[in-house]
Amino acid sequence: MSIRILPDEVASQIAAGEVVERPVSVVKELVENSIDAGARSIQISVIEAGRRTIEVADNGEGIAPSELTLAVARHATSKLREVADLHRIHSLGFRGEALASIGSVSRMTITSRSRDHNEGSQLVVEGGHIGNLRPVSAAQGTVIQVENLFFNVPARLKFLKSDTTEKKNIDAFVTRYAIAYPYLRFGFEQDGRMGLKTSGSGDQREILGLLYDASLARQMLEIDADYDGMRVRGYVSPTSETRGNRSAITFFVNGRWIRDNALNAALIQAYHGMLMVGRYPIVFLFIDLSPDQVDINVHPTKSEVRFQDPGALFSAVQRAVKRGLLAFTPVPQLSGPPRWTRPTGEWESGSAPNALQANSMAMDIEQGGSQPAATHRDPYAASLDTPMMSSFPLLRLIGQIGNAFLVAEGPDGLYLIDQHAAHERVLYERMMNERQDGIASQVLLEPAVIQLSPEEARMLDEQLPTLKSLGFEVEAFGPYLFRVRAVPAAVVGADPAQALRVVIGDFEEDETPLTSELEARLIARICKRAAVKAGQALRVEEQKALLQGLEGCRAPRTCPHGRPTMIHISLDLLERQFGRKGAI
Ligand code: ADP
Ligand code: MG
Repeated sequence: MSIRILPDEVASQIAAGEVVERPVSVVKELVENSIDAGARSIQISVIEAGRRTIEVADNGEGIAPSELTLAVARHATSKLREVADLHRIHSLGFRGEALASIGSVSRMTITSRSRDHNEGSQLVVEGGHIGNLRPVSAAQGTVIQVENLFFNVPARLKFLKSDTTEKKNIDAFVTRYAIAYPYLRFGFEQDGRMGLKTSGSGDQREILGLLYDASLARQMLEIDADYDGMRVRGYVSPTSETRGNRSAITFFVNGRWIRDNALNAALIQAYHGMLMVGRYPIVFLFIDLSPDQVDINVHPTKSEVRFQDPGALFSAVQRAVKRGLLAFTPVPQLSGPPRWTRPTGEWESGSAPNALQANSMAMDIEQGGSQPAATHRDPYAASLDTPMMSSFPLLRLIGQIGNAFLVAEGPDGLYLIDQHAAHERVLYERMMNERQDGIASQVLLEPAVIQLSPEEARMLDEQLPTLKSLGFEVEAFGPYLFRVRAVPAAVVGADPAQALRVVIGDFEEDETPLTSELEARLIARICKRAAVKAGQALRVEEQKALLQGLEGCRAPRTCPHGRPTMIHISLDLLERQFGRKGAI
């Protein structure tokens, strides 16, 4: 074949493959255009997961009739003139590709009236063929309707995921932009049903409340910090609110939703030691920096960017979030904020601690007067970068209270132990230790049968080898039916079907974490489920066994999520409280 320049139509279709991968890509490009056009209101309607219709209507500045045909041509943009503009770009678009790409793989109708025209105009592009411009009456702004997406690209159609997944992607996109642009009024319906509707009041917390429940929205901690012209603001969840995967972590850079592993890592580091293994926070961070600090022209969809100084941004994000967390993280209160002190060293197991060590390692509860709660002294400062690891004083069991806590006496006062957190820690360390030589497994007298949804069944199938290494023996014996023959010894007594469900419950569809990380996560999750609950009466032997188990732990003072397993009330505090000390 001789070399030829491809006809524009063919070139557009090839280019479209990069920009318009799936229905959500169309929604994204259209919404971004509306934002660039200065719209105050953006109404989105999607039918059949976008396969049939995607419509975006805005009240932005509109397109003049004389420019409408140009707008759908390839590399036609009003946002950029020369290469240098790329470094000072403030608009979301600039490649001039979206409308041409969408028009080449669908039937696209653009209706628009520009601010300084009395009449609107309309243009239809079908499979790349541009129709004739015709005058229509229209309100100011632009309505773009995209029908029969990929009708001429059967390969793409086949490649689409289930409607549920495509709808979920569109949902995820629209909700994030609604939060990122709180001054715009978003309306969003799928298949005629109104989904999200925002007021444009500018109140991001209000929108968070629409998306999550109101109480979570209230609890989200506000972040706002500026480091050398890098502004990091947004919302992060308190350590008590987590998810089983990273999908609730969102970054916007200069108004664009982006994905960036390094930023994820910075965030996770900021939470270090405060979250259970395998749990992730809910986060919306909006990062603004000078456009010349970030290269957005890395990928046609602009969802990946490159930073001039990634290290500086990494530390800005980490510091901003850490600071926000420490300022707000509630700490267990008795008469004042408790204080964690850094462990001075490991004790020889079995040797009784001397009073001084016990003192320095204990979580002292200070008197309210000497430590006003209002000061933002951070309780985690000392232990944030090292896991809260310390040995455990020998305790004499006194008993159980409220079917939830153990009471014990230690070298320096009273210890209250959270039975659930403590048991979680004991089980977790036991299973993690056993992991090297294979986790002990116990065959069930009667195999448990569990029925799963098709998605769950697929996930379980993928995880069978991991499950085996964790001590589960599971076999498929019908469509979506599984038989559990053996469970990890630690879980014996718990409902085996339940235990298995926890393992698959939190997985994201395309998640492929490292096996060791995956295992630690699963183990933490199994232990949480298998641990005794608050409200469970324990026999004296069980109480003793729990204390003993905790004594044998490497990090007995926290559960696997980093919450304390025990509170120490020193004799000193008791004496003060009873007015024996410090009183005149
Ligand atoms: P880009 O956004 O990269 O410039 P597009 O293909 O998305 O490229 O759009 C081409 C041009 O059409 C834009 O530069 C803009 O001038 C115009 N345009 C597209 N959508 C709208 C809209 N909703 N309102 C006003 N103008 C629009
Ligand atoms: Mg665009």
